[in-house]
Amino acid sequence: MKVRTRIAPSPTGDPHIGTLYLAIFNYALAKKNNGQFILRIEDTDRERLIEGSTENILYSLKWARIEPDESILKKGKFGPYIQSERLEIYKKYIDRLIENKSAYYCFCTKERLEKLRADQTKNKVQPKYDKHCLLLTDKQIKEKLGNNTPFVIRLNVPQNEEIVFNDLVRGEIKINTNTIDDQVLLKSDGYPTYHAAVVIDDHLMKITHVMRGEEWISSTPKHILIYRSFGWDIPEFIHLSLLRNRDKSKISKRYNHTSLNWYIKEGFLPEALVNYLILLGWSHPEGKEIFNIQEFINKFSFDRINKGGPIFDLEKLKWMNGVYIRSKSISEIKKLSKPFIKYKIENKKLEEILKTIQERLKVFSEINDLISFFFEEPNIEKSILEENYSSSEVKEILSQSLKIIKKNGINEETEKLLREYAEKNKYNIGNFFMVIRISITGRKISPPLIETMKILSESVIEKRILNIINKI
Ligand code: GLU
Repeated sequence: MKVRTRIAPSPTGDPHIGTLYLAIFNYALAKKNNGQFILRIEDTDRERLIEGSTENILYSLKWARIEPDESILKKGKFGPYIQSERLEIYKKYIDRLIENKSAYYCFCTKERLEKLRADQTKNKVQPKYDKHCLLLTDKQIKEKLGNNTPFVIRLNVPQNEEIVFNDLVRGEIKINTNTIDDQVLLKSDGYPTYHAAVVIDDHLMKITHVMRGEEWISSTPKHILIYRSFGWDIPEFIHLSLLRNRDKSKISKRYNHTSLNWYIKEGFLPEALVNYLILLGWSHPEGKEIFNIQEFINKFSFDRINKGGPIFDLEKLKWMNGVYIRSKSISEIKKLSKPFIKYKIENKKLEEILKTIQERLKVFSEINDLISFFFEEPNIEKSILEENYSSSEVKEILSQSLKIIKKNGINEETEKLLREYAEKNKYNIGNFFMVIRISITGRKISPPLIETMKILSESVIEKRILNIINKI
């Protein structure tokens, strides 16, 4: 069987991290089977459209290198790949359902529907359409259509039937049709609903596996009824767990960054974000955490997909991003970090600086913070400088160290001499070097001291140390 998968995002805002997550899984399933991965834009909900959203989705998939085989940009045989350009198609197919009596016209007014709902709620029954318009005769229908009475088309859902399907990750799922409303298929504005369009498109685009978020589980029986009404084969269904906030609620802006634009702007590496998202939804058979998309494709299997709600943890993602940064060459890091660096630095110096921070760099947006002391006089807090020593001891340490530095220049030998001096005077080595480190860099954690001093140059170091001696 030729495997074809898809994602079908709606262009209703910033490109969502959940969209990339689904894209990665659908892409891997398709590639594992030498199949195709399709991007279809579902823009039938006209009120929620946001301009630029489709372009953003396309851009973020390109950025993540999860590129569709067919989309509005890469046309295949099954287009158009955007639903607003397929209205004629939906109309034609929904008409078929009218003909075979699986669907019917509904002319009920908003007022009637509201009253029905209110009565049902009052009587504590599940609000559902009461099939009122199913009783209309052909003649009545013709008349109303002739008068241009506004209408919708509804699916005639059979009563009290168990709809059973086998989710490839979750197993058998059963839903009774009594819980399903006579779903609107075509709205009064001539647009299909999501439910109608998704089935018609997945069928016509020859999608074999519908892998989507778990929030669609309750819609799947409706879709199965629509497939059946058309007499079409039913694809496989897989519902992936949604990404979650720390409190287990569905991932949201309140607790997390959900827009892919943010991750791109912050300087996350696409391969790290992709790796992290895979790890949220799937576990590697050898328990590995760091692996690329190709390895995921090779090892992909449904039984390793996570059924619980994976919690999105930005700190873990940052850690992973750091792992990827460390695996890169300095010249790659130079290229990637340049757009983020606010200082003007000549190439050779930049390389030297990058070498000293590569170990600790997690996200490119943090780079200015890590390197600022190379370019700006650090702001030194007296309290951290005097954590272990009195001001006169600090002064003593600094003036003696400066003497050693000035006499020997900055090299590995100087480090040895400083250490010998500290030992001779019974200073704790760590605390002793901390005083020098803070005086030069303004911080407790910095790149290796001698490397840092070499880049800063002797005169800058002298100036910074003297500054402190004079100040405290
Ligand atoms: N347009 C739906 C969404 O925005 C697609 C759901 C599906 O994959 O069937 O999530």
